[in-house]
Amino acid sequence: MPASTVQLPLDELRARVSGRVITPEDDGYDEARAVLYDFADRHPAAVVKVATAQDVAAVVDLARESGLELAVRSGGHSGAGHSTTDGGLVIDLRDLSKVEVDAAARTAWAEAGATAADVVAAADAHDLAVGFGDTGSVGIGGITSGGGIGYLSRKHGMTIDSVIAADVVTADGQLHHVDADHEPDLFWAIRGGAGNAGVVTRFQYRLQPLGDAYGGMLFLPANAATIACFIAAAEAAPEELGTIANVMNCPPMPFIPEELHGSLVIMGLIFWSGPPADGPAAIAPFRALATPLADFVRPMRYPEMFPPEEPQGEGAPKFIASSRILFMTHVDRDVAQSIIDTIATAPSHMGVAQIRVLGGEMARVPADATAFAYRDAPIMTAVAGLTFDPAVREANERWVDAFKASLDQGYEGAYVNFINDEGPDRVRDAYPVATRARLAEIKRRYDPTNLFHRNQNVPPA
Ligand SMILES: Cc1cc2nc3c(=O)[nH]c(=O)nc-3n(C[C@H](O)[C@H](O)[C@H](O)COP(=O)(O)OP(=O)(O)OC[C@H]3O[C@@H](n4cnc5c(N)ncnc54)[C@H](O)[C@@H]3O)c2cc1C
Repeated sequence: MPASTVQLPLDELRARVSGRVITPEDDGYDEARAVLYDFADRHPAAVVKVATAQDVAAVVDLARESGLELAVRSGGHSGAGHSTTDGGLVIDLRDLSKVEVDAAARTAWAEAGATAADVVAAADAHDLAVGFGDTGSVGIGGITSGGGIGYLSRKHGMTIDSVIAADVVTADGQLHHVDADHEPDLFWAIRGGAGNAGVVTRFQYRLQPLGDAYGGMLFLPANAATIACFIAAAEAAPEELGTIANVMNCPPMPFIPEELHGSLVIMGLIFWSGPPADGPAAIAPFRALATPLADFVRPMRYPEMFPPEEPQGEGAPKFIASSRILFMTHVDRDVAQSIIDTIATAPSHMGVAQIRVLGGEMARVPADATAFAYRDAPIMTAVAGLTFDPAVREANERWVDAFKASLDQGYEGAYVNFINDEGPDRVRDAYPVATRARLAEIKRRYDPTNLFHRNQNVPPA
């Protein structure tokens, strides 16, 4: 049921925007209100498929004037369900998704409703790239606003480190063009500030040369030694190598012998962006850890690192994921053994530790250059419990809390894009004191009434 008691001025909304306005009375409402996660099953008063930056400004104005709650959606992948609302307005950017590459200048303007896969594919057509995360369907609006950590972070920094300009609609409905020389505070806040400062309608990215590359999925048997050595190899590797080590019980993959289904594995995702001929040598230390159970690492292009995402059929069971994020300093054999022991106790028997070695260019960017400040975090680990059974969700939530606590090595902080609906204290963890103070001060100037609060919220100072 809509939570808002404010009446939607529908005729006025339709008169003000050129994009489609979809209300509960319209065909396609259920499709329009759907986001990635079923738990965020909310009923907005209207979903506005904005067609222009002016539409975004018009919806912002109307939300501010009417008091209707406002949610902003790019790819709809928010783990907190922030990109929808009960009874309010959703700015749905997905029709605003044009990507224009200037190959000579090695830059791209991408409208904020594009997905990571859209931008990566457009750049790849010119042997260029900008790094996003591990999933193509993630919206560039969300991942870029929060930071962006992926296979190219060690070589080229986070996604925000490639942002050179943006257009932003602030809470007063004004459209700002921001870059290092124009409204630098606002430009700073949209790079890591998780949508607190305004709605970005398009980003300009710096692109890097990247054509043929080498990468893919490597399944290894997991034990304390292979896990610790995988992480050591990732730390020792040249910065052109990006890895994700998923330690988990082997899913029933057809290419893995049946007797190994359920056994502990490392599902390694590995991408080498250096010269393709050097790829096999860069991957060799990982292949040498154990006889691989499956080895799909091969010559490829960067867009091929995004796994195919089959749309789930109507009524098909969906994973319910409980996850927590933490930064770590090391994963040695003792830590690896503790990960193994905890995964063995997962309530749903589907526990995962996803370990990413960071550093490189991501760490060289000064901590005050963007609103993401945990630049020197050596390792980021997401622990997750997956289930198809809603009744197990609560047990999984407690289990991931304990799993995270068991891995605490004293590195404070969190990555805002991997926080779920975990309360204001956890949002506070995403920003060191000075970063949070600056963000709150910029929020006071650009959004004094906290119009943009359906996000990992930093209230105005
Ligand atoms: C399967 C999966 C894999 C992921 N892998 C990675 C990964 O490898 N690396 C990584 O860094 N992250 C990863 N993420 C996290 C992801 O970056 C965040 O969930 C991100 O917020 C999703 O962006 P979205 O646009 O799809 O989400 P949405 O739900 O559309 O938006 C999330 C929030 O972002 C803000 N926002 C969105 N668009 C804009 C905009 N145009 N202007 C201002 N604010 C905006 C709003 O506050 C909104 O509530 C992953 C998430 C999922 C679900």
